[in-house]
Amino acid sequence: MIEIGDFRISRVEEVVLDEPTDLLGGLDDSIIAANRDWMVPNFYSEERHVLYSMIHCWILRRGDRTIIVDTGGGDDRDRPLSPRFHMQKRHLDRGLAAAGVDFEAVDTVFLTHLHVDHVGWNTRLEGDRFVPTFPNARYLVSARELEARDPGRGAASKPPASWNTYLDAVKPVLDAGLVDVVEGTESLGDGLDMIQIPGHAPGMMGLRVRSKGQEAVFITDVMHQPLQVLYPQWNSKFCENQDMARETRAKVLKHAADEGALLLPSHYGRPFCGFARRDGSGYRFEPAPDVL
Ligand SMILES: [Zn+2]
Repeated sequence: MIEIGDFRISRVEEVVLDEPTDLLGGLDDSIIAANRDWMVPNFYSEERHVLYSMIHCWILRRGDRTIIVDTGGGDDRDRPLSPRFHMQKRHLDRGLAAAGVDFEAVDTVFLTHLHVDHVGWNTRLEGDRFVPTFPNARYLVSARELEARDPGRGAASKPPASWNTYLDAVKPVLDAGLVDVVEGTESLGDGLDMIQIPGHAPGMMGLRVRSKGQEAVFITDVMHQPLQVLYPQWNSKFCENQDMARETRAKVLKHAADEGALLLPSHYGRPFCGFARRDGSGYRFEPAPDVL
């Protein structure tokens, strides 16, 4: 567990995925050789020549508040376009329960964006239909993301198979009246503020946590790999707006270095989070203490 003033942050893992190195444009063997001392073994496998991507759920607690940040890929999903998330049985729900999360008591589910690996456990299969996993929570969803994924609006021209994530993980919580549509500029109360970090996804949002002089920022997919702290011009192949993704990454890194803020991304290997420290004209990655 990490403490940021009065807040406690923990994580529950769904799966570790092998990520081919073509995830990052620009990554080649010389870069890996130059960085192997800190990339191996937590971020890169030399044996198999792959990067590691965690899929996990962050849990943020203070007092009696429980906030879940993103909900993984989900089980039992029909994902013909995303084989890594197709019809899986990874049981993230059991992991959350084992971590002491009372599903009825979760008050907020903060969805950074609506990609397949961030919204799965919004819902769970009950009989033949998907129902909200956290029945008393407010699910916070970006207006821009909702517009982009809705088959009746921004996703109308996309193939129907790409609508599945929306239909089984987003629509059921909308239909249940559990969604608050937000802009990404709102406050969630004392010390908790949404930030707009568009690019990887059009309406992507982060969450800034401040308490007692400390700061952490849930930055989700602003960077998929810690190498991007050193090479911030590199996007992942999944970034939807490449120029905007670079612009957002530059802003986030500058802020993190200026403020000494802990960066909490969605897919980094152990210790899953860390700091951007200034290094010459750029930055280096400093892993956080291994406490999660
Ligand atoms: Zn992601």
